[in-house]
Amino acid sequence: MVPLLQAMDRPCRVDQTRVGIINQSEINAANAGNCEFYVTLGLLRRANDNQLRGVLAHEVAHQDLGHIAKAQVLGAGINILAAGLQQLFPGAASVAPVAGELVARGYGRSEEYAADKHAVDILSRTGYGKDTMLDALTWIRRTSGSGGGGGFLSTHPALDDRIATIQRLR
Ligand SMILES: [Zn+2]
Repeated sequence: MVPLLQAMDRPCRVDQTRVGIINQSEINAANAGNCEFYVTLGLLRRANDNQLRGVLAHEVAHQDLGHIAKAQVLGAGINILAAGLQQLFPGAASVAPVAGELVARGYGRSEEYAADKHAVDILSRTGYGKDTMLDALTWIRRTSGSGGGGGFLSTHPALDDRIATIQRLR
């Protein structure tokens, strides 16, 4: 299986990739540019492997497409580690807990749709495909009913539209 990072058009070197884990219960993930990614504990705890893969493929796609990073972390200090991430980012320089609150401002709609489309390309190169992206998004739509999807939802276009758009991809 090809790792996500190696499936990029401009792959992030593993030793320059950083993944921060934020102690927040809401489901969220973000790309902060320079091969730096953030995921919330809420995402790690509630997503299965395939859903996590889909969400991260979307964030990796933002990085690969050179979208200007809009994520930052406010605050400092907690310590928890996740195993699922090591699988997706094997050998990443650091998969580390980060203190604070993830603040991810939304990209433009066109950038979001471009990221979904590119995420499907990236997933295909790793032996997965649009089903993984659809699984992730339908899971977030389902989970958001119980108030858990806040972060990822608030910064992204309507899930119904995104799901329909991905379904039309070949
Ligand atoms: Zn996005």
